[in-house]
Amino acid sequence: MPQCPVCGFANLKEPPRAASGGGSYEICPCCGFQFGVDDDDRGLTDEQAREAWVAKGMPWKSKSRKAPEGWDAAEQVQNFLQPKKKRPTVKKPGAKAKTVNAKVEKSPSRKVRKRGGSES
Ligand SMILES: [Zn+2]
Repeated sequence: MPQCPVCGFANLKEPPRAASGGGSYEICPCCGFQFGVDDDDRGLTDEQAREAWVAKGMPWKSKSRKAPEGWDAAEQVQNFLQPKKKRPTVKKPGAKAKTVNAKVEKSPSRKVRKRGGSES
């Protein structure tokens, strides 16, 4: 399922952005971001929209769609942001100790694979 680039909600009906670049005009039921409107027309970046949504306490926005069972906004955002190392983690209001499992993978030494024969 397509994922919201703002909040990480992974159950959108359509991809937020078409390959051609146009927004889907779908409103994320989770954070309320409307692709092609909030970004294109209002000039919000995903980060700005996320920060605003997080600042509001990460409310579930849709009235017609219910939040999934056991939905945890903070967890969703964390999972969404964590793989991307360059993004700062979202501060969870009232969060306890950091439980970030920093998985340090050893970068494999460059292996030069020699392939026999020419490519393509
Ligand atoms: Zn969203």
